[in-house]
Amino acid sequence: MSSRFAVIGAGTMGAQAAWRLASRGHRVVAFEKYAPGHPYGAAGGETRLYRNIELEDLRYTPLVRRASELWLSLETQSGWKLRDITGAVIAGHAEAEETRRALAAAEAEPGAEVLDVHDARRRFPAHAFDAEDAVIFDRGGGVIRPELTVKAAATQAVQAGCELRTHTPVTSVEDRGSHVEVTSARGAEAFDRVVVTAGAWTQHVVPQLSGQLRSHQLMSAWFAGKTANALEGVHPLIRTNPTYCYALPTSDGYGVKLGLGFGFHPRVERPEDGPRVVEEEAMAAFRERVRRYLPVVDPEPYRTDFYYESYTASRHEWLAPAPGQPNIIVASGFSGHGFKMSPAIGELAAELALGDRPSVDISFLETANDGVSW
Ligand SMILES: Cc1cc2nc3c(=O)[nH]c(=O)nc-3n(C[C@H](O)[C@H](O)[C@H](O)COP(=O)(O)OP(=O)(O)OC[C@H]3O[C@@H](n4cnc5c(N)ncnc54)[C@H](O)[C@@H]3O)c2cc1C
Repeated sequence: MSSRFAVIGAGTMGAQAAWRLASRGHRVVAFEKYAPGHPYGAAGGETRLYRNIELEDLRYTPLVRRASELWLSLETQSGWKLRDITGAVIAGHAEAEETRRALAAAEAEPGAEVLDVHDARRRFPAHAFDAEDAVIFDRGGGVIRPELTVKAAATQAVQAGCELRTHTPVTSVEDRGSHVEVTSARGAEAFDRVVVTAGAWTQHVVPQLSGQLRSHQLMSAWFAGKTANALEGVHPLIRTNPTYCYALPTSDGYGVKLGLGFGFHPRVERPEDGPRVVEEEAMAAFRERVRRYLPVVDPEPYRTDFYYESYTASRHEWLAPAPGQPNIIVASGFSGHGFKMSPAIGELAAELALGDRPSVDISFLETANDGVSW
């Protein structure tokens, strides 16, 4: 009898892991608390930034490249357009650490152009830049459709034979040595290996990771243009710290969605407990970023919404077995940067569950969380 796998959480990473396992012919059951593409976790809000330029750590670049290949096959297999490659603007103070890292990444990226601030102002008149900025245009960057990507991966997983159980929260996962016991409303079931991709709920499914993972609430705010066609020249944008923010045009051209940095992401115990009120401090920061960097945009939002992400103290994800539970592979703690590499993460989680050598070098993650405390 061949091995039987379970995936706990068919969200951003879990739907991809289930797709990779099922398409390699393995028996997979995917448990999802809601349904793939739902708005209550990390994948809501209609857009995510796709960029080839790393700000955090250049060792992620091969993961983003592999993700892009898998995105193309997911688009071909599903027939859905899951990314709009429009180019993306990366800007920030030229001396800031993240900007310097981005400039180093741009040197190795054939699709990247480095512009001085005068050229950038001429080229992107809908944007505004600080005099000290360095600017990169990543021609291969753009906007991801997150809900549709999750749905497409889950659909392909099912077509490849995965059994998807929606509205089935898992209450516990225990490595018993000879098997892993997964408990849901259907009772306890035995699997050979389990992949836990439960996002901001992971530490409730795997309490051994309570010290490593924390859940945070991220607010998105949508703004309209000041005039009818004002947003035509607005590109996907990310700014580096200390003026961190990102801006993503909506696909209908009507609005632009902004997000702020970690300082504005309150910690929550569970996503269900997150506050639903926008603090004035956050609203003021949104307005300030809009006025300063997107002068064509009305600084009062027409919509706000809240999403939930799992963080580690190191900001490097946990992509390894759960402590003391070798048959439970956990992929969580993506710390605000996981979507653009999600198909590759799903593939790596599947490889770890199968006991295969990872096809992309992730050795830098092995010790990334050792001794890093909050
Ligand atoms: C507002 C926001 C903006 C972001 N912007 C970007 C960006 O521009 N670019 C980028 O690359 N990344 C971005 N990220 C990060 C990226 O979206 C996340 O890293 C990624 O979506 C995390 O995926 P996940 O699978 O860990 O979580 P999720 O997608 O939330 O998946 C977890 C799944 O597990 C399910 N689940 C939980 N508990 C259980 C249980 N007990 N039983 C069964 N199922 C369960 C949940 O319902 C959910 O479907 C952003 C994140 C947020 C929140």
